[in-house]
Amino acid sequence: MSNIDVNVLAQSAPRVCFVTLGCAKNEVDTAEMTKRLTAAGYEVCDDAPTADVVVVNTCSFIQAATEESLEAIFEVCDLPNFIEGSAKLVVAGCMPARYGDDLASELGEAQAFVPCSKEDDIVEVLAGVLGDAAPQASMSPAAQSPWAGSPASYVKISDGCDRFCSFCAIPYIRGRYHSFPLETVRASVAERVAAGVREVTLIAQDTGRWGEDFDEPSNTATLLATLADEFPQTWFRLMYIEPQGVSDELLDVIASKPNVCKYLDMPLQHASKPVLRAMNRRGDENSHRELVARIRERVPGITLRTTLIAGFPGETDIDFDVLQNFLEEVEFDYVGVFPYSQEEGTRAAEMDGQIDEAVKIERAQSLRDISDAIGEAHVSARIGQEMDVLVLGREEDGQLYGRAMCQAPEVDGVVYLEEGEVGDIVRVRITDTLVYEMEGDVVHGS
Ligand code: SF4
Repeated sequence: MSNIDVNVLAQSAPRVCFVTLGCAKNEVDTAEMTKRLTAAGYEVCDDAPTADVVVVNTCSFIQAATEESLEAIFEVCDLPNFIEGSAKLVVAGCMPARYGDDLASELGEAQAFVPCSKEDDIVEVLAGVLGDAAPQASMSPAAQSPWAGSPASYVKISDGCDRFCSFCAIPYIRGRYHSFPLETVRASVAERVAAGVREVTLIAQDTGRWGEDFDEPSNTATLLATLADEFPQTWFRLMYIEPQGVSDELLDVIASKPNVCKYLDMPLQHASKPVLRAMNRRGDENSHRELVARIRERVPGITLRTTLIAGFPGETDIDFDVLQNFLEEVEFDYVGVFPYSQEEGTRAAEMDGQIDEAVKIERAQSLRDISDAIGEAHVSARIGQEMDVLVLGREEDGQLYGRAMCQAPEVDGVVYLEEGEVGDIVRVRITDTLVYEMEGDVVHGS
């Protein structure tokens, strides 16, 4: 960068653009980094070709995600501001956490690497990258909340995982499980609510363990009840809860609090005992069945989502039949199905009995066919029902849309509407459905 450029930047706020890959947890991390940078005098924009710094917040929990993150990095490097050398690249998130120094030696295009555990230091990192062009302490712009104008947002309640499922790289990427203190979670919710957020989705690698690691242990039920009582106008939704965390106390909070979504996303991964043991997971088809029955009994009408892996090493035809039968019988509303991905550094990657790629894909498709038929039937059964819908925004073609309590962000479809203000919760009668999407009319005078 020339001296002239540096002087110009010193007078105006450097512009930082985030490119965020992967899951909702990364979105939260980007929002937190945005907040720190705007408070420190940076302008956070969404225009990479004119930015002074682009931070690519990467995902690498499976190989396909790593490849997607690398593609995003190389696309940034091909932008004119990078080719001419006026912009800087920072690589953050899961890739630096997973690959460490190996990544730094392979990716000379980046000026800095920020693993997940160091993202709180983003201001210092960018100061190091920009030198004199970094904002001076005297700059104190009125920082706009990253959640302003968003009707819905995620809040992370913990990070890391100690379960060490044999297929999963996350414990190596995100570290040991650690809950965020109640005060931290409460403050995160409060700042979003103050910015106009009406729906908060609580996320973590495993939301059901919250509070176990405190000196005075607490639990997710207490957290959820506390937040629901303190923010009665806000919807709360709990995602990613491992079966062990589904206590009766938690189910009773979900059932009894009107502003807690009657919804659980509970990854089961499989139903056959030998496969679950090889995955280093508990349970079997019977315990899973009993768990789902208990949930439905304590929270009538609850919407259930799960995640399954097809083609885990050693999965026999019998194991797969057990899984298919379980899926047909239990009838989840929504199912995420993934063919097993052989991840470097995990125990499952070294196991005998790796399954042919074509078989994995075929089995995954077969599970999707079963779950789609059930899911579509569940969604179309909602025609004629009335439900509250949070109005979220407009599609590119102007179509208004929102989300009901039975729909998790990004994965379960939306409700299309003809009227309503973004951020309002309106009463809607469902008039039609298409696969997982719903259409409805606002019910007036309710
Ligand atoms: S519980 Fe989830 S995050 Fe933790 S190791 Fe298992 S799959 Fe990975």
